[in-house]
Amino acid sequence: MEHHYLDWAATTPVRPEAAAAALEVMTEGYGNPSSGHEPGRQAARRLREDREAVAAALGARPEEVLFTSCGTESDNWAIRAALQAGRHRGKHIVTTAIEHAAVREPIRALEREGYEVTWLRPDSAGHIDPAQAAAALREDTVLVSMMLVNNELGTLLPVAEAARAIRAAGCPALLHCDAVQGFLKTPFTPGGLGVDLLSVSGHKIGAPKGVGALYVRRGLKLSPLMLGGGQEGGLRPGTEATTQIAAFAAAARAGRASLEADLAAAARRKEEALTALTAALPELRVISPGDVPHIFAVTLPGYKSEVLVRFLSDRGVYLSSGSACHRGKHSHVFAALGLPKSWLDGALRISLSPRTSPDDLAALVQGLTAAREQLFSTLS
Ligand code: PLP
Repeated sequence: MEHHYLDWAATTPVRPEAAAAALEVMTEGYGNPSSGHEPGRQAARRLREDREAVAAALGARPEEVLFTSCGTESDNWAIRAALQAGRHRGKHIVTTAIEHAAVREPIRALEREGYEVTWLRPDSAGHIDPAQAAAALREDTVLVSMMLVNNELGTLLPVAEAARAIRAAGCPALLHCDAVQGFLKTPFTPGGLGVDLLSVSGHKIGAPKGVGALYVRRGLKLSPLMLGGGQEGGLRPGTEATTQIAAFAAAARAGRASLEADLAAAARRKEEALTALTAALPELRVISPGDVPHIFAVTLPGYKSEVLVRFLSDRGVYLSSGSACHRGKHSHVFAALGLPKSWLDGALRISLSPRTSPDDLAALVQGLTAAREQLFSTLS
């Protein structure tokens, strides 16, 4: 059976450059960067270069990049540390109703602990009104957390506008951005956005799972995630995951080198996919065409997305009923758009790469056409 992977927002295959870098570090450059001998010094040098590479891809300074184990860790750390920094000023948080669980769940836990949260609501197309963000700011707001690219809709959120509103209001809140779906998928820099903290993850850009980074704006004093040795400036101790970091850096270098061509190729494929799907399936509705090249969301009202995902999977076409993190339940993201139940039931997130082929798209269209013919519709 042929395989057509259309779930690149869930995770990506490891790029050959990243796999080669990982193998090299595992077998040759295996020293502990804290060791004083030559293998240790070599590992420390390599780590420095790898940090520079990730920082360059991000458009940040190397000392602003702290390595973590994943995007979820970066998000949780940023949120807790921002509240710790603002603990004498207040207990109000502003975030959106369409954040990934890695932001949503820690903030919901804080709400239960007594923090007051303003959840910004999207419009029916998945966009957040920047004026709503500005209006939510208060004197006691200590954290604004807003993702850059929504992982289920592909919409861009007004992070730069939120930063400007925070500054204009003279509000001391820190601004955190979950840029896991934006890194090397849409052009931005943390400085250009005006954020204090920004999370990224390796496995979305062709690095292995188990590595991420938190950007911490220069001058911002962060509380440590854990206590231990002095690694990562003493803020995120633990022997550095040099293998994953080397792979992350290799993927970042490769992604940065081909960024413009990759974005253009993915955008073309998305256009083709939307055109082919809407032509072949008149009842298909586009929930979000996506502002970024690699993600869009559609629905087949009357069908169940879980069933569609399995049906397509049996034919070698792999996509998602939303974020991979909440299988079985309606996605809170699609639900936040106020869509009819039949739309929510049939919602699908399709995510592409620059290497998605016309064959992949043809298989998707054929698979959904077959699903419509062979599966039971609650609307028929
Ligand atoms: N934030 C967003 C927007 C994501 O899409 C994901 C992964 O799906 C995460 C955070 C979590 O990243 P990780 O899987 O590296 O923990």
